[in-house]
Order: sequence, then structure tokens, then C-alpha cells
Amino acid sequence: MAKISFEKVPHKSPTPADKRTALMADPGFGRVFSDHMVTVQWTQGVGWHDAKVRAREPFQMDPAAAVLHYAQEIFEGMKAYRKPGGGFGLFRPDENARRFNESAKRMAMPDVPEEMFLEAIDQLVKVDADWVPSGEGSYYLRPFMFASEAFLGVRPANEYIFCVIGCPVGAYFKGGFKTVQVWVSEEYTRAAPGGTGAAKCGGNYASSLVATKEAFDNGCDQVVFLDAVERKWIDELGGMNIFFVMDDRSIITPPLNTILPGITRESVMKLASDAGYKVAETPYSFDQWQADARSGKLREAFACGTAAVIAGIGKVKYRGGEFAIGNSGDGEATTKLRAQLTGIQRGTVDDTYGWMR
Ligand code: PMP
Repeated sequence: MAKISFEKVPHKSPTPADKRTALMADPGFGRVFSDHMVTVQWTQGVGWHDAKVRAREPFQMDPAAAVLHYAQEIFEGMKAYRKPGGGFGLFRPDENARRFNESAKRMAMPDVPEEMFLEAIDQLVKVDADWVPSGEGSYYLRPFMFASEAFLGVRPANEYIFCVIGCPVGAYFKGGFKTVQVWVSEEYTRAAPGGTGAAKCGGNYASSLVATKEAFDNGCDQVVFLDAVERKWIDELGGMNIFFVMDDRSIITPPLNTILPGITRESVMKLASDAGYKVAETPYSFDQWQADARSGKLREAFACGTAAVIAGIGKVKYRGGEFAIGNSGDGEATTKLRAQLTGIQRGTVDDTYGWMR
């Protein structure tokens, strides 16, 4: 495909600087949005066209748009950081582009050329550079694609919109950067073999919400899903992958089967392995988790993902009770890996892996 060029139609009345500063003082997560968005359309037989960097505004959608009925939608999540010496850093955006296309394939959607994906992101960061926080915050980018064709038939749509929006963000969890509590859902599952678990499609999240609500109702921050076949093995959290740190300096994480192949997960595996931990992708059962936490064999557990980076898990709750992990605070491995990863992302630790763009 020929390189797509983006038409720039800047916002006519962007947010005034004082209002922007006020909004960015405490943005929370996913509530405050920057002024622009990028949109590109796809039509069967034509391909990608009408690429634009323009004011963020509501979509005009036909009530029969396929996404509203059959949920043909995928998305990604990534962060841009303001670098200490000026400029911006993106953490492994090529991996997001690759995963986006894996999701697209699974959902029978068109391929988004990696170059177009990355260019769209660069364009948005450039036009909304003032919205990228300094200090602890970052700018969260949300590329997504949905079926826009007006047609009530169950088949892959013939029209799609690819869009990128962005928002300045602070800490993902309400309490800020702290140890989290998780709820193990023994009733609801997230993904079955042959299903869409490894794709980042909206439907996965829709079906996870009832379990997430149960987690919130039980005072927890996230839900942990077990596998759908035996209801025995730990899969992942509602929006994060999970790691277990043992007393013999081994670290395990569930294998990629029906879970989302997290980019943070893969990065943490590399960092931990290079730091001298024995890292293994091994099935780990909920029963074993309880036994190891109680015996003290399990020293730490942490969740990881783009939004919260690395969050220590202090307590685990479930229908039948609860148990604590380690001393319920962030352990040594959790703290060390987080410092290294966030350091690379923020440009304060040497990026020896070549992860930053
Ligand atoms: N699992 C799920 C279900 C997720 O939504 C996410 C967030 N993308 C992750 C894991 C972590 O993936 P990543 O590290 O690429 O953000």
C-alpha cells in the first residue's frame, strides 16, 4: 500500500491553556481528553482513505452501524512520556501495532499497515503535545477500529473507521500507586479455547464487567479470571497479566493460551530474566496459589499492564475467604522491576533493549 498522508484540520478553538492546566492537574484515568483525534476510513474495494488529524468530536453513526449490534471492534492502549531532555518517548508502539493486527485478523477486520498505525500515533502526540503531562503522569493513547457499515446482517462489515484519541493520565487505581486487592471470580470466565481471549476486542471487556462489578462490590480493584475449561488455572486479570514470585527467586506467569499477550508481560519477563530470576511460563492453579501464599513459598504477586505498569497484589479475596501475600506491601522483585521498567519508559534508565521510540 502507498504511504497514506494525513490531512491536518486543526481544532478551531482548542482548550485554553489555563483550562488545560486545571484539567491536567488531577486527570485521573480516561476522563480528560486532548483536543484532537486521528481518523482513517476503510471501504471494501478501496482500502484506507480520508486520513485526518482533526478536532475531537462525536461520530455521526447510523443506528444500524454493525459495531452497535455485533460488536466488531478492537482497540489498543499505549503511553507517551515526556522525556527529561525534551521530546517524547513511546514504549514499544510497534508491538501494539502488531497486536492490533492480530486482533483485527481474529475479528475478521482489515489489516492496518504498521506504518499507518505508528504515523497516526505520532501525529496525535505532535498536535496535542501540550497535553502530555510532565512528572508522574503520561499521555494514554487509544487506537481503535470499528465496523461502521449500516447493515443488519451477521457477516464482516464492508466499512470501518480507525481512530486514535488520547488523554493525559495519572495513576490507574483509585488509591494511586499502591498495592492492590484482587477478587478471584469462580463463577464467570473471560475466555475459552478457540474464543477471542487473545484479541483486544471490546466484547471481551463487556463480558468481564459483571465479574469486575463483583470485585468492586467486594472492595477489590481488579478481577482475576480462571480458565474456562477446568476453572482451576489462573489466566489473567480483567485488564492486566499476572506474575508470581517464589522464595527461590523463580518467577512464573501463566502461558499464552487464551490470555492477552501483554507487552508489559513480555517486557517484565525479559527484565526479570536478565536480573537473574528464573522465569517460566507455567500453568498455576488457584489452589496452589492459596497453598503457596499460606506456606510462605510465594513471596510476591504482581499485576502488569500498560495502564498501571506494575502493581503489587497485597490481598486476594474470593467467595470462600481471603488470603494475604507476603507482608501485603510491594515486595523486592515488584519494586525493582517497576523501577527499572518505569525508568526505561521515562528515560531515566538506559534503554538497553531499544524499546523506546
Ligand atoms: N490483559 C488484558 C485483558 C488487558 O486488557 C491488558 C491491557 N492491554 C493486559 C493484559 C496487559 O497488556 P499490555 O501490557 O500490553 O498493556
